[in-house]
Amino acid sequence: HMPTAELQAIDAAHHMHPFTANDELAKHGARVITRADGVTLTDSEGEQILDAMAGLWCVNIGYGRDELAEVAARQMKELPYYNTFFMSTHVPAIALAQKLAELAPGDLNHVFFASGGSEANDTNIRLVRRYWDLMGKPDKKVIISRKNAYHGTSMGSASLGGMQGMHAQGGMPIPDIVHIGQPYWYLEGGDMSPEEFGLMRARELEQKIDELGEGRVAAFIAEPIQGAGGVIIPPDSYWPEVRRICAERDILFIADEVITGFGRTGEWFGSQHYDLSPDIMTVAKGLSSGYAPIGGSLVSDKVAAVIGREEFTHGYTYSGHPVAAAVALENLRILEEERIVDHVRDEAAPYLAEKWHQLADHPFVGETTIVGMMASLALTADKSVRKPFKASPGTVGYMTRERCFGNNLIMRHVADRMIVAPPLVMTKSDIDTLFERAVKSLDEAYKDVKEAGLLETAD
Ligand code: PMP
Repeated sequence: HMPTAELQAIDAAHHMHPFTANDELAKHGARVITRADGVTLTDSEGEQILDAMAGLWCVNIGYGRDELAEVAARQMKELPYYNTFFMSTHVPAIALAQKLAELAPGDLNHVFFASGGSEANDTNIRLVRRYWDLMGKPDKKVIISRKNAYHGTSMGSASLGGMQGMHAQGGMPIPDIVHIGQPYWYLEGGDMSPEEFGLMRARELEQKIDELGEGRVAAFIAEPIQGAGGVIIPPDSYWPEVRRICAERDILFIADEVITGFGRTGEWFGSQHYDLSPDIMTVAKGLSSGYAPIGGSLVSDKVAAVIGREEFTHGYTYSGHPVAAAVALENLRILEEERIVDHVRDEAAPYLAEKWHQLADHPFVGETTIVGMMASLALTADKSVRKPFKASPGTVGYMTRERCFGNNLIMRHVADRMIVAPPLVMTKSDIDTLFERAVKSLDEAYKDVKEAGLLETAD
């Protein structure tokens, strides 16, 4: 391929990157990734980089699995495309629907396919409103979500999300979507214990339902663990209380498992980790381990029976795309046959947790949290208080992420939290490498931040 600088110049000139400003691209040039195998990326300079984010939390089985490439090639030759509109179907969509019904908890026995998480959550907005229409309760339209949630990037799914920065760019949220607080104890819990705070945040759901009137509320949507919001792991009291409220109130519960699905928490689904019984579950990412774009809404017997009464005027050209479905099926076969979820639960996650919690002793680290193979830590200027930095949120996180990149470790930052969500197939020795590079990066970033005069807590 062309020299890196040339590739970067063309990239900056013609390629509009998500979530990236032009001047940043022009100044630094994006890292050009050329190959990947297992848990390691190779860039255009030949550097070997440990991918502790599994791409964007999706490459659960790791890179370079030839089986998926072979299945894709075979399917492309046999039937590269057909749709599932107007009374047609095909074998890969049928087989994947059956497999998902088998794997999913409870009676989530039906799937409406999409090409990713945003599309699936757009589907969910329509599904829940349509459900209540057909139930003779057309006033039940409001969907309650949470601040700092991430449910996608389309107008509908970004409206479900609670990212104010996104809402400000394009007139979101759309009507009838409201947001309650997130269970983020570290920065928002004040003097409460985590358990008190978790209960308080859960009860905001009940208060919001009462405020709006139950007759207006269609659904509550939440990620079992907020991912893009910073891997916010709720206090233990949170989910049991939300479960109680959802059981007592006549609303649907949508679990967005785009990140937490397919083994990430050490269970097949985060809903099993927290004993949730969603009426609808959003899946994407780990469904195909990112090898093909596919997502879907898994739907309970109860909801499917109502929706299916009449034509649901909704569908994407690529709903259940045969190549993507075949790839997803092969990915699920590998997850099952290689017992990767057991590997997470019994080996990788406990070892990662042991290492991750050691980082809590670092002067730069305020807290460490982890469930399964998703972990985060709070950077801090002062371990004795749970407070943000004086510098604007993300300044210190960005500096730390740069040090990680420099040490060939992909870690992400959300404001001033550092995140990892590695491929589930990581071995103990991969985790040792992750840990060594993380410590080195934290040491270096701590020094940078100190020297820049930014090691200061907000008032
Ligand atoms: N929901 C969650 C919880 C996500 O993390 C994401 C993607 N990060 C989405 C939905 C959107 O999925 P996609 O990017 O495939 O549209």
